Amino acid sequence: MSPATAAPIKIDRRGLMLVISSPSGAGKSTIARTLLETDKEISLSVSVTTRQRRPSEIEGVHYHFKGIREFERLRDSDLLLEWAEVHGNFYGTPREPVETAMAEGRDMLFDIDWQGAQQLQEKMSADVVSVFILPPTMTELQSRLHRRAEDSEAVIATRLANSRAEIEHWREYDYVIVNDDLNTAFEAVRSIVRAERLRRDRRHGIFDFVRGLVEENPKL
Ligand code: ADP
Ligand code: 5GP
Repeated sequence: MSPATAAPIKIDRRGLMLVISSPSGAGKSTIARTLLETDKEISLSVSVTTRQRRPSEIEGVHYHFKGIREFERLRDSDLLLEWAEVHGNFYGTPREPVETAMAEGRDMLFDIDWQGAQQLQEKMSADVVSVFILPPTMTELQSRLHRRAEDSEAVIATRLANSRAEIEHWREYDYVIVNDDLNTAFEAVRSIVRAERLRRDRRHGIFDFVRGLVEENPKL
């Protein structure tokens, strides 16, 4: 082990793009929020949406809320890395913050649906790590949507009606987690992030580190 006074060994690596998807209400935003609060190496990709702001949401923190015209302008100017229509609203990922984060080797978290996950997978497959969150039961999914108490009954009905079709996409993800107990599900996501950061092909700094290691001649 290195002496306690020495600086910790830092090995340069590429940033990773952690994509989390689930049917609405399964808990992906809750898990994402806990991860962002506890892990300062990862930041949220703040999407653009045409959906109405929920009472608890803050402009620029949870989403950039835009009208349809402005959304179309961003999309048609190629300023979105991916976009999709979900539950009757448009959502998209601003391109610039992602490209900057990747160039600087920082991690980003994407709370996006399966259509967005597919687009990122096609464009940046080496950087994407994808996680699909399932609810323990459909009854619990329904109760969570009601307990969240931020959407109208009509919106909840649309989201529930769409949930089976969304769940069908679970096979397209690297990891699948059942969010029964929140803490267990969160720990699973944390383990994935920790392990993925250690992947050899992400750690370009490992070459220099190993070279230095084999060239080192310890004094007798
Ligand atoms: P999503 O982002 O997938 O639409 P949310 O994270 O908003 O879902 O979660 C929906 C509701 O379910 C929230 O009220 C949240 O507090 C609750 N919730 C999330 N995970 C759990 C869990 N494991 N057990 C009980 N309630 C949960
Ligand atoms: P909500 O309205 O509950 O915040 O999100 C509805 C759905 O849209 C969720 O599945 C969420 O992950 C997805 N979503 C949010 N932002 C984006 C985005 O930028 N792109 C895509 N493709 N989906 C998004």
